Amino acid sequence: MFVFLIFLGAILQRLDSVHGDNSSFAPPITPIPRDLYHSRGSLLKEINALVDRHSDKLTIEFARASNKGYAVDVPVVTYNNAKKTEKNDSQHRILLSFGQHGRELITTELALHLLSILTEEHSLDRIFGFDPTALGKDLENLVLKVVPMENVKGRELVEAGDLCERRNGRGVDLNRNWSVDWGKKEKDYDPYEENPGAAPFSEPEAQIMRMLSKSFNPHIWVNVHSGMEALFMPYDHKNTTPDGVTAQLMKSMLKGLNHHHFKDRCLVGSGGGSVGYLAHGTTTDYMYEIAKVPLSFTFEIYGDPSASSKDCFKMFNPVDAVTFQRVVNEWCGAFLTMFKAGPELLRSTNTTEGRWISIDGDSVEGLLEGNNKEKGKKMDGLEFGMSEMRTYFRLFMLSCVLLMFMFCSRISKTKFRQML
Ligand SMILES: [Zn+2]
Repeated sequence: MFVFLIFLGAILQRLDSVHGDNSSFAPPITPIPRDLYHSRGSLLKEINALVDRHSDKLTIEFARASNKGYAVDVPVVTYNNAKKTEKNDSQHRILLSFGQHGRELITTELALHLLSILTEEHSLDRIFGFDPTALGKDLENLVLKVVPMENVKGRELVEAGDLCERRNGRGVDLNRNWSVDWGKKEKDYDPYEENPGAAPFSEPEAQIMRMLSKSFNPHIWVNVHSGMEALFMPYDHKNTTPDGVTAQLMKSMLKGLNHHHFKDRCLVGSGGGSVGYLAHGTTTDYMYEIAKVPLSFTFEIYGDPSASSKDCFKMFNPVDAVTFQRVVNEWCGAFLTMFKAGPELLRSTNTTEGRWISIDGDSVEGLLEGNNKEKGKKMDGLEFGMSEMRTYFRLFMLSCVLLMFMFCSRISKTKFRQML
């Protein structure tokens, strides 16, 4: 028995060496490539400068809220291309949020790039379907509110070195703090990733976004994230899509975007039905269910499924210049298409069919399962020296089963990260 216990100890040590932080087997952790990515401060500074240069189209304000000593200032940029003479009814109001999760830096870079295209500081040459000389006309009557960095405090933590942090400055996941199905916990609930807060809208950032949804009353909402490539519509808290006309519009729009801009490679469907887990208390479910935003989406703009779960920067953000440029350009193109086509789709509900080229691609199921399979790897690295174990063979086999169970549960814990 003594020999067996020593042996068991050795196996456990080996497991720790496979997964421990200090091991020579530990995968490298990618730092933030500062040549590609702005710091929090420099990104906000650039946006401010852009607003100054284009004060005819852009304005910026900082929305402030606090709760129990935790205060935040969230920047909100407004792009206004509506004719002054027109009434509010003819405006197309679109609300976008970027950087709700701190570690998803690429989304905030996309916000900046999109604003620079809207002000024509960046060329539209390579963007599908747009006449670079007629952007203003293409986007007639568009009023856009862009929150370029919703989770400013969480972003500070990431830049201070906590590259896996997705929550806000006091540990709450801002995409679980909303009231639709708030606080429900799935079996795989991970408090580190998904802490929903003390109550719905306990967090100032969520309060600000809710206030914005009420005062602005958008026709389209997009919550921009990274971790995978996907175009999601409600629901996140159940694995179905809503019924009715607007749900058909949303599907049609997403399939169109996927086909035209991403060669059908994005996952399309309800968040809850596609991502591999249900998410409760999300912003997009609230925007659709409660704020009644007819077209409510979550876009996941980039992910590297081959990255180690500890290498968070690489998992959620491109790390080379070519991929970085491709991602921001492709998604800017998709957004511009949506800005133009979304209001048209809403206006002509009865003639939705045929406005987009017909697409078959429900397609992408199984992608996540494939990834998860890959994650259950490397049991064959354990070698047990069976000849020494004859006496305790039965006990040993039982222990193996136990260890395998522990090993697998550790893998799934360390490998799994939330996207939405
Ligand atoms: Zn996210």
